[in-house]
Amino acid sequence: MDRFDVIIAGAGAAGMFCAWEAAKRGRRVLVLEGGRAPGEKIRISGGGRCNFTNLHAAPECYLSQNPHFCRSALARYTQWDFLGLIGEAGIAWHEKTLGQLFCDGSSMQIVDLLANGMRGAGAALRLNAKVEGVAAAAGGGFTVSAGGESLSCQSLVLATGGKSIPKLGATGLGYKVARQFGLPVEETRPALVPLTVDEETKASLRSLVGVAAPVAASCGEARFDEAALFTHRGISGPAILQLSSYWREGQAVSLDLSPDAPVYEALKAAKAESGRRAPRSVLAALLPKSLAAVLTADMEAPLAETPDNALQALAERVHAFTLTPAGSEGYRTAEVTLGGVSTDMLDQKTMQARAVPGLYFVGEVVDVTGWLGGYNFQWAWSSGWAAGQAV
Ligand SMILES: Cc1cc2nc3c(=O)[nH]c(=O)nc-3n(C[C@H](O)[C@H](O)[C@H](O)COP(=O)(O)OP(=O)(O)OC[C@H]3O[C@@H](n4cnc5c(N)ncnc54)[C@H](O)[C@@H]3O)c2cc1C
Repeated sequence: MDRFDVIIAGAGAAGMFCAWEAAKRGRRVLVLEGGRAPGEKIRISGGGRCNFTNLHAAPECYLSQNPHFCRSALARYTQWDFLGLIGEAGIAWHEKTLGQLFCDGSSMQIVDLLANGMRGAGAALRLNAKVEGVAAAAGGGFTVSAGGESLSCQSLVLATGGKSIPKLGATGLGYKVARQFGLPVEETRPALVPLTVDEETKASLRSLVGVAAPVAASCGEARFDEAALFTHRGISGPAILQLSSYWREGQAVSLDLSPDAPVYEALKAAKAESGRRAPRSVLAALLPKSLAAVLTADMEAPLAETPDNALQALAERVHAFTLTPAGSEGYRTAEVTLGGVSTDMLDQKTMQARAVPGLYFVGEVVDVTGWLGGYNFQWAWSSGWAAGQAV
């Protein structure tokens, strides 16, 4: 039986980064990847340019049952560390918005950096090698079955990612292994995902399909100031994707469609200036025309004939356009999986299961989920790096 110091299941962002670090320390590392190529999610990320980190990455930008868990790894390997690596590799990048850093060229530059880096440091990569099962070995360590072969290792790292985009190789192995070794798994659900509405709401929003607008989207305590987009199925765009990580069934989502300009004041000023204008034309200067039309569908009278309380009510509709989503588009389009292997039983410095020496979980399989905008890759780098120092 082939014996390795470290076997890593999954050649995604976290797995490859962990392999590189462990191999640099002289460990004999094997990465087993179920798919035909490493880093498939990196390849398709950020519209092909990979939003590889965020300048503002901080523990507050992550969701977890234990919001403090990610602190250690994020502090030990930061966005500046990853940016240094990108710089050394000569990969050109730019900030798009809100601290989001993208490659100027292709996301394959990041995949190649990781795959070549870990191979150069001595780690081996086997493709089409889906891990089917693992077991604790009698004298310590683990046996791993993959592609009909049995392998053994001292340290086993589960870097198998979440459940999103099943066609890219999600298997749920990390959750299965966690349960097998008695580690709890927090309920998983699709996140960073468009929200859907029922047929009646869909019909009422039909004329808005394709319309995007800057909004302040909120539900419960969560609020995001970014763009929203009306779609055939419901609502999407960065503000809604962000909110989807906080939204729960039955909750309403409120969109302030004019977050920077108070609408009542604009309507009153326009009324004082020229009462012949329609409320719709005032709104059309603040919002996309089709949104203004939907919001004023029952308001044909000019401003002079519209009482102030009706203008007030219109302004409230603009500042709190409220929908109750029926659900989400699910794992088919979700960028990430919320929940996962509970952090309760993991060591935050090393990502090792405290009760199972040698067993590690890194990246998205862990119950740490970042906001949209490069935060999830930063978690993959930080957690992969932390385990890479310890395996
Ligand atoms: C469309 C899309 C765009 C995204 N864009 C961004 C972005 O721009 N910025 C950002 O920060 N985040 C982005 N994300 C999220 C980001 O891709 C993930 O958070 C990140 O890839 C997680 O890294 P990971 O290594 O934990 O898991 P993954 O990258 O998912 O890697 C897991 C690997 O494990 C393999 N695997 C699974 N089961 C097995 C098994 N049984 N045996 C062997 N191998 C197995 C899989 O094939 C896969 O290669 C995006 C996600 C999607 C879906």
